[in-house]
Amino acid sequence: MYSHKDNRRYLLVLALVTGLLGLGLTITAITVWQQSRYLERTARLQADSVVAMTFQLEREFLRTRHALQMALTQGAGAEWSTVQQRFDILVSRIELLRENPTVERLARTDVYQQLWPELQTLHAKTDPLLLSPAVAQAGLRGVLEHMMQMGPQVQALSQAANGLVSRQMEEQLSLASTQERQLLGLLIAQAILLMLATVGLWWRHRNQVREHQQLHRLNAELAAARDAAEQANRAKNQFLANMSHELRTPFNGMLGMMQQLEDGPLNEVQRDQLHTAQQSARHLLNLLNDILDLSALDSGKLGIQPEPVQLRHLIHDVQQWVQVMASEKGLSLGVHMDRDCPEWVMTDPTRVRQILLKLLSNAVKFTTQGGVRVDVSSQTDVDGQVLWTLQVQDTGSGMDAATLARVFERFVRADDSLTRAQGGTGLGLEISRTLARRMGGDITASSVPGQGSCFRLVLRTTLARAPGGAQVQPPSHPDGTGSWHVLVAEDHPVNRKVLGIMLRNLGHQVSFAEDGAQALAMAREQTYDMVLMDIHMPNMNGLDSARAIRALPGERSRVPIIAVTADVMNDAQSRSLEAGMDDFIPKPIEPRRLEQAMRMCMQRMQQMTASSAHRPCLAGT
Ligand code: ADP
Repeated sequence: MYSHKDNRRYLLVLALVTGLLGLGLTITAITVWQQSRYLERTARLQADSVVAMTFQLEREFLRTRHALQMALTQGAGAEWSTVQQRFDILVSRIELLRENPTVERLARTDVYQQLWPELQTLHAKTDPLLLSPAVAQAGLRGVLEHMMQMGPQVQALSQAANGLVSRQMEEQLSLASTQERQLLGLLIAQAILLMLATVGLWWRHRNQVREHQQLHRLNAELAAARDAAEQANRAKNQFLANMSHELRTPFNGMLGMMQQLEDGPLNEVQRDQLHTAQQSARHLLNLLNDILDLSALDSGKLGIQPEPVQLRHLIHDVQQWVQVMASEKGLSLGVHMDRDCPEWVMTDPTRVRQILLKLLSNAVKFTTQGGVRVDVSSQTDVDGQVLWTLQVQDTGSGMDAATLARVFERFVRADDSLTRAQGGTGLGLEISRTLARRMGGDITASSVPGQGSCFRLVLRTTLARAPGGAQVQPPSHPDGTGSWHVLVAEDHPVNRKVLGIMLRNLGHQVSFAEDGAQALAMAREQTYDMVLMDIHMPNMNGLDSARAIRALPGERSRVPIIAVTADVMNDAQSRSLEAGMDDFIPKPIEPRRLEQAMRMCMQRMQQMTASSAHRPCLAGT
């Protein structure tokens, strides 16, 4: 912030600089005045010297003429030395008049130019006569006569000098005073400019200070607005996380119970009604999932969590999921993967599965006859970077150019009867492409209306080692069909009921704990084959309970634990893996998904019984 102290300092410096400049101008003005006075004096002195010289010349001329006249009157007894002395002085005065530069202007006058040769002649004529004046008296009389004639001219020179000098003086003085006035005018103009500049600077400075204060205020307001927006965003995310949990729990109950109804005896009409109810519920669930993902992506909260993944198996899992849907519609679904694709790579399995599921289910959804084909190829460079291309080609409805151009935009759906009949949010592809881009890849699409579409997913991964040095996992699932004793830790009675029915239908025996502490106590008392653990529970939450179970002594600490939660935000998955759990299933639970996750987890545990190390199996999310 610009302080009053800074302001005072600025004004002080401004005043100091202005004062110094003003002082400089005053000194200059005084110097100019003094100089013009000096010039005036010099001019007067010069003038005085010219006037003095002509005056002295006149005086010496008259004195010499008088002396010569006296000597010639006295005749033989005359004092010729006095005449000679006077004449020498006169000659020196004549020389002075010639040599002096101040006479320059006088020398240009007519009087001077007429007189000067006369003086020269007088000098030249008289000098030899004065060597023996007694003899040369006749010549000297001629000289006297000459001097008599010259008298008025010499006087005129003196007067001319006087006139000239007074004119010159007048001219010089007027010039000097004009210059003086001009200079003073200039100085005054400079002083005024200086004053204006000072006032201008001060004005500008004042405005700057005001602007600075305004900016500061604006900045504070913006910061407050940003804080408020961040606060609102946090509240929104918290709200979404809470809603997500609150909505998933009843969904779990709804879908689970409908599944049970479906497996029971129903007449045709009831079965059809149930089917419609199931479809609506699934659609709502998809919508919920998409909106939550989008919100997480928008707020930058959806992190990518790479881990070693066998992409071949992941693709196989997705194929199995979509196969059911394809078979129901009588469509073929083939996956062709290049033989030389690497086995283990680092990527986020949850997100890759989500994208693939979207592309494959869309392909099946928008195809009525023919089928869907997936081609997988990869390129590995020397640095261990792997570029995957997964191409999903269908023989479905295809899209016109306008739909294709906007297919990755939010809420875009083709406006045809098939799309409307299939339902959908128009969010899935945008989410998928954003996820692919976050992972350094992309999704592109091409399509021919009436012939089919092709979506191409490019993924960047790095090569990874098989975790714990294990080699390639067997692609089939030979085990996992037995009957196990499963401990379900779940606080919500509806969820307990749904899970109980599902597990018993799968042929397992079920025990229930209503919170984390009870689950821990039961797991300590008895050996279970598997624990299904809710995360949000009273008394002790699922994460703490899992940690405590892992800390139990002996075999019971090794029981496979699968997190089952409606909280799909807030890093629930990574937090449950960190707490020592083996896998994560989001609610609402689909029976097939639960079965697959349990089977893969069990299979992995059995493979690992040889080694005592504990690892997550990361199978069915
Ligand atoms: P939705 O959840 O509504 O299916 P998507 O983002 O997945 O939303 O897809 C947006 C639109 O793109 C769909 O409504 C459909 O019009 C079109 N679309 C996506 N995949 C295909 C495909 N394989 N064949 C034809 N149209 C497709």
